[in-house]
Amino acid sequence: MTKFDVAIIGGGILGTTISYWISTLYDLKICVIEKEQDVAMHASSRNTGVVHSPFYLNPDTKKVLAKSAILSYEMWKKLAENRNIIWKNTGVFEIGFDEKQHKSLEEYMKWGKRNGIPDGDLELLESKDISKKEPNIQCYSGIYCKREVSTDFGSFTKELKIESEKNGTKFLFGKNVNAIEKNNDCTIQFDDDSQISSKIIINCAGGNSLDIAQKCGLATDYSDLHFRGEYWIADEKYSDLVKTTIYTVAEFKGYPFLDPHWIKKANGQSEVGPNAVPVPSPETYSGYFGDVTTSLSKLKEIVTGNALKLFADPEFLSLVSKEWLSSISKNAMIKRVQKFIPKIRPEHFSRRGIAGIRSPVITPKGKFLTDVMELEDKNSYHIINYNSPGATGAPAYSAIIVKKLQERGFLDYTIKPKKSIWDFDTITI
Ligand SMILES: Cc1cc2nc3c(=O)[nH]c(=O)nc-3n(C[C@H](O)[C@H](O)[C@H](O)COP(=O)(O)OP(=O)(O)OC[C@H]3O[C@@H](n4cnc5c(N)ncnc54)[C@H](O)[C@@H]3O)c2cc1C
Repeated sequence: MTKFDVAIIGGGILGTTISYWISTLYDLKICVIEKEQDVAMHASSRNTGVVHSPFYLNPDTKKVLAKSAILSYEMWKKLAENRNIIWKNTGVFEIGFDEKQHKSLEEYMKWGKRNGIPDGDLELLESKDISKKEPNIQCYSGIYCKREVSTDFGSFTKELKIESEKNGTKFLFGKNVNAIEKNNDCTIQFDDDSQISSKIIINCAGGNSLDIAQKCGLATDYSDLHFRGEYWIADEKYSDLVKTTIYTVAEFKGYPFLDPHWIKKANGQSEVGPNAVPVPSPETYSGYFGDVTTSLSKLKEIVTGNALKLFADPEFLSLVSKEWLSSISKNAMIKRVQKFIPKIRPEHFSRRGIAGIRSPVITPKGKFLTDVMELEDKNSYHIINYNSPGATGAPAYSAIIVKKLQERGFLDYTIKPKKSIWDFDTITI
């Protein structure tokens, strides 16, 4: 059986950047286990591609995500310049529709400052000033942030895989983790009946990370749901109706993934979306039910588990009845966007964009977990609920994780740093 010092489960943007950092700092036997044939085949490529500035993240409750996003901006920019990866400065308007949402925007301005967004990169504008920049936008007020970029996170992940491999990391593709047995070392069993062993495991399995943690006996009282976010591409003729990316203040603060955006993509297209179609697995990209066994087991988990408790939450019920189910149709989605771009019509959108799946975790009390959750035992570390703006923050967040692994004794080896694209010490102080 092949033995490793570090086994990272999941070759998305998170697992790959963690492998990059560890292989840059140490001479260890590291592997990244990925069930697909390449890195970034799921959320890390199937996302909106926006490098977010964290003015909308509460610095008290989302401190790490906000810090990671702010630090990662320059890191990605440097890599994009270095490797010729698209880096398109689109700017963003975050708009509100009434006085109440204007108050949220005022708070976002304060959060932006506390999160370290440079002075002058954020401005709170009245509707008439927004119309000067974007005549087709209708709103009460909005924040303009010029530090918002569209890019290709899949290409970033592929570049970091190459760098990590140069440092000696082995990428084990086509290996689906089936079972984990933990003694002094961990034995990882794949569904092709092969196995490896590793001194430690780092779980970065995205939409399956809760399942992997539960295989290690952790978070057994948590559950998750999977929502497919669908997008529609504006026909070329209407693509420049609005030239800036537009987000709206979340109407349902506990469920911010439901508010529609107008996104200026790196490839020049404009898209609207997402909605949130409940699906049984983190990979059901079309249809509703996936394979029968997965659907039935998810259904059983819902009716017996925490997800059912969601229905005791009045905000959730109101959302389901008023917004959610109707948002599944294209016409309903466009109607929601018409609230801020009145000129658009369903017939301006003839092609679907790439769908991606969000997998929010539900707490034992039946609430959506709002932040990333890190869990550990003696030889495994798990990163769960790593949602948006996870791709933005990945290079800094992964360095912060590696620093924690050092401090907790998971990486008790002599540091032998190799040449690196970014400086670990400056990011993790
Ligand atoms: C629709 C959508 C839009 C988004 N837009 C943005 C955005 O604009 N900006 C932003 O910053 N963030 C955005 N995000 C969030 C961002 O994409 C994610 O936070 C990030 O990609 C998560 O990366 P990951 O590596 O944790 O997960 P993933 O990319 O999902 O990687 C996990 C990997 O683990 C593998 N895996 C799972 N189970 C197993 C197993 N049992 N055995 C082996 N391998 C396994 C999977 O195949 C997968 O490759 C968006 C997300 C979605 C869904």
